[in-house]
Amino acid sequence: MTLIRFKASQEQDVDLSRTYDAVVVGSGAAGGMAAHVLTTKGMKVLLLEAGKKLPIEQELRSMEWPYDHPRRGEFPPGNHAIRYNEYTIRQPPYAKKTAFKHVYSYVGGWGGSDYVKNILVDEKDHPYTGTRYAWVRARVLGGKTNIWGRLALRLSDYDFKGKTHDGYGEDWPISYADIEPYYDKVDLYLGISGHKENLRHLPDSLFQRPNKLTASEIRLRKSLGQMGRVLTPYRAGVTTDGVKHNKYRSKCFGRGACGRRPGGCDIHAAFDSPTGLIYPAMDTGNLTLRTNAIAREVLVDPKTGKARGISFVDSQNNRTYEAKAKVVILAASTLESARLLLLSKSRQYPNGIGNSSGHVGHNFCEHVMGPGATGLVKELVGRTPTLDDGRPGGFYVPRFRNLEDKQPGFIRGYGFEGGGGFSIFPSGAWDAPGFGGQFKKTVREHAGAFISMGGFGEVLARYENYMDLDPEVKDTWGIPVLRFHYEFGDNEKKMCEDMATTAREMFEHAGIEVVGVDKTILTEGWSIHELGTARMGTDSKTSVLNQFQQSHDVRNLFVVDGSSHVSASCQNPTWTIMALAWRSCDHLADEFQKGNL
Ligand SMILES: Cc1cc2nc3c(=O)[nH]c(=O)nc-3n(C[C@H](O)[C@H](O)[C@H](O)COP(=O)(O)OP(=O)(O)OC[C@H]3O[C@@H](n4cnc5c(N)ncnc54)[C@H](O)[C@@H]3O)c2cc1C
Ligand code: SF4
Repeated sequence: MTLIRFKASQEQDVDLSRTYDAVVVGSGAAGGMAAHVLTTKGMKVLLLEAGKKLPIEQELRSMEWPYDHPRRGEFPPGNHAIRYNEYTIRQPPYAKKTAFKHVYSYVGGWGGSDYVKNILVDEKDHPYTGTRYAWVRARVLGGKTNIWGRLALRLSDYDFKGKTHDGYGEDWPISYADIEPYYDKVDLYLGISGHKENLRHLPDSLFQRPNKLTASEIRLRKSLGQMGRVLTPYRAGVTTDGVKHNKYRSKCFGRGACGRRPGGCDIHAAFDSPTGLIYPAMDTGNLTLRTNAIAREVLVDPKTGKARGISFVDSQNNRTYEAKAKVVILAASTLESARLLLLSKSRQYPNGIGNSSGHVGHNFCEHVMGPGATGLVKELVGRTPTLDDGRPGGFYVPRFRNLEDKQPGFIRGYGFEGGGGFSIFPSGAWDAPGFGGQFKKTVREHAGAFISMGGFGEVLARYENYMDLDPEVKDTWGIPVLRFHYEFGDNEKKMCEDMATTAREMFEHAGIEVVGVDKTILTEGWSIHELGTARMGTDSKTSVLNQFQQSHDVRNLFVVDGSSHVSASCQNPTWTIMALAWRSCDHLADEFQKGNL
């Protein structure tokens, strides 16, 4: 079958002599959404993206079988992905003094690294310093959405009103009712697959057709039901029924390729920002895109104190340029947006723009992960193979701790992501006993009988977990890099102990033989769900942004990515990032119309 690929029809030439209505920095989930909403409302928008525009289908090659690739998908020689032990034993910058030509984050070490070598940043060009941290970055058009894991979850008032619930931290300046209509808009515009469960702590989306659960997953779902817990099909940011209003995307064919490698769907059934948001925005005729444009500083009008544009470095020729705009919107991802705010020092804003509170870079939060379990469903050993992994995800077990109960030792909660059944590479093959023909027989017979799951827990936002600028180290373009001051606390460690215990308990309750329980806590940053470095709030002394992600200090400056989140919740953040960005940009466009910015 031939897929027809469309090019965005109305690509605009970049005109740096012009003052745009808005300049957006970053083209991932947040920046793509800002571009979509503002251009639809008629604003003329310039989108600056530090990375290049890749022929992404040629990179991802989702239909390529491992044996069709000369190295079964592995990196070419000279490339290296940082391993868990390196993150643990060494200090950043991890690529310093290595003999490898190119060094990538741990995600490059997943099967199929060759498909992401042009998507992930080379750590040699992009160092950072301080405490250990596994920082995964994708500097290309669309950012991390090109390879994300697709789990698309809503937050609830257990998250937005966490302080009211348990007394810790700060409540968000919004509640679920404020964001619910925007979650709905994101669901309908981008497509999401899933199954309704009517849970207060994990609100349902407007779902398209859900993934099928496998035999072992159905067994676990039934058993969890008896325990008062839930296993639901993976809520995937994937259109399983198609989105007719978008000509750049296809509905999911269930090939499972996105699950075999670090994400990626070359027919764009899985959401990615370029096909989901940016190309349609270009088709309005209101969007101009400048790639290879590394924002260096938010420029300030010394007379008014307002933002007047962005100074950026061309990554190819190293020259500096200015982009002028009436409104500046940062969406460079949580850590890069904080870096940009801190880099933007001026007479008016000596601590960095928007930082009169001193909270920029602070209150960092994310998800802690590592603990989980692997089990074997004995009754399924020897069964005829079925196509189990032809789907964009496995299952999700929503949070069940500290809802109506109160756990000793830790507050907040965690959920599990998992999967069971046959997969392209047979589960359990590495650990199977035997040799030769007997080994192969054992592997084949057991391949579909394994099930595993791993936890994602809320890391508490703490002022003392922060990032600032390193006074000495710079990246390849001479821009000061981030320095981390961050480590997990006691709450996270206690929560992880509980994760390992409950993973075992749930498998045992389902009559699944537990073949392994992992208690290792992975390095800080591993979840790739970084949040909180410019949080929203009602008090300008303790927060950076208001409820519309608008700077308390500079009214025409907005930061619409995960840096605005007040707490991490334990649900994956991307759907919330986009719903919030949509809400804020609706407000922004109204204020712009009224001349209030
Ligand atoms: C392997 C993987 C699995 C994931 N799985 C999930 C999941 O299952 N569910 C989930 O919710 N989330 C998941 N995530 C996280 C998800 O991808 C992010 O939450 C989301 O992409 C954040 O959007 P963003 O726009 O803030 O950042 P990004 O998508 O990172 O986009 C930021 C963009 O800004 C650009 N940029 C950075 N600095 C500058 C600068 N100075 N100037 C100009 N441009 C700049 C970058 O190049 C990038 O294109 C996963 C991520 C990865 C990598
Ligand atoms: S399973 Fe669906 S979302 Fe995943 S790669 Fe295949 S078509 Fe894309």
